[in-house]
Amino acid sequence: MTNAAVESEVRTYCRSWPTTFTHGLGSRLHDDAGRSYLDFFAGAGALNYGHNHPVLKQALMSYLDQDGVIHSLDMATTARAGFLAAFGRRILAPRNLDYRVQFCGPTGTNSVEAALKLARKVTGRSTVVAFTGAFHGMSLGSLAVTGNASKRAGAGVTLGHTYRVPYDGFGDVGGSGLLLLERMLDDSSSGVDLPAAVIVETVQGEGGVNVARTQWLTDLAGLCRSRGILLIVDDVQMGCGRTGPFFSFEATGVVPDIVCLSKSISAYGLPMALTLFRPELDVWTPGEHNGTFRGSNPAFVTATAALEEFWQDGILEKQTADRATLVEGQLRTLADRYAGQITGCRGRGLVWGLEFKDPAMAPRVSAHAFARGLLVETSGSADQVVKLLPPLTTTEDELAEGLAILTASITTSLRT
Ligand code: PMP
Repeated sequence: MTNAAVESEVRTYCRSWPTTFTHGLGSRLHDDAGRSYLDFFAGAGALNYGHNHPVLKQALMSYLDQDGVIHSLDMATTARAGFLAAFGRRILAPRNLDYRVQFCGPTGTNSVEAALKLARKVTGRSTVVAFTGAFHGMSLGSLAVTGNASKRAGAGVTLGHTYRVPYDGFGDVGGSGLLLLERMLDDSSSGVDLPAAVIVETVQGEGGVNVARTQWLTDLAGLCRSRGILLIVDDVQMGCGRTGPFFSFEATGVVPDIVCLSKSISAYGLPMALTLFRPELDVWTPGEHNGTFRGSNPAFVTATAALEEFWQDGILEKQTADRATLVEGQLRTLADRYAGQITGCRGRGLVWGLEFKDPAMAPRVSAHAFARGLLVETSGSADQVVKLLPPLTTTEDELAEGLAILTASITTSLRT
């Protein structure tokens, strides 16, 4: 089972899913008791192409076979150059995006740290606007812009230089957070200084699958532009196709000044992160945001293979849209059947959340689903949302199977 005798109390997911996993392929994980699980958690969004995708595995195996350089800080390697070329060719150029690529430490939180530092350096201002329900990571800069009280409490120091605004749909104030922000910025006695940046998720994954409306996002972008505030989109969880297009903001027409990417960018669950920004913002001096693991070549190899495999045509994006329709239909039917107990059904692409009136219900559903062979996690301020994050490569049959298990788990949970 788990290593409870030696491993720190800080461990989490092994508590929700108390078994020992051995191997995985596609959307399925297997444990040492011979059980198999449909994985609708997908490494918290790090496995958008599933476990051990054969094309990515082959690219990695052949790189290893050639004794390709594994670790190289930010020295030039063929693997790094190959990724940069493919990212330009498959992602940036077709979208008319002119971004510099910064390889940062290989975690989402480090990409956010780089974004915040850069925005502060470029503007010479210190405050960053962040939203209720936001999740941006666990290091101090990212934690300061994260909303969750218990995570923030772990900092042990004052988390400052942040101005908090209601996210779209927060509580019963709807989209009025932006109006509040605008009024505060326009009133020289409001006590709110002009911020360096606004950091936003287009869909808040950890915050409970809160989906911002397109209009709200374009209004936010307009507000930033008109006042010289940099717009950072944290696409760590919603990027790499999770909502359909490669970047979650594509459908809105918003072009952020800075973008954070991690999780599924390596495509294979290998640690990797990028911060993208407009070339004019590239005011870094060499080594100013440094890190030992900015050159994980195996991650570059699998990332490149995924860009060639999934992003040279619109097939995956179209497939995600089709599967989204299928998932949404079934979840809405479920939500209707249990109206009163299920108080929200939200999502986009292949990220969906069912919100329960009784917050105790979501962990119960997750536990029943685990017992039946399905991994689904919970999210939201009171863990009241069951969150579905299947790999984008999950087949229709697997989606149907997972949704059937989810339905049975909800039925059981609401009865007991
Ligand atoms: N930003 C967002 C939107 C995230 O969802 C996460 C991780 N859940 C992070 C940042 C932090 O990423 P990491 O855990 O890799 O530091």
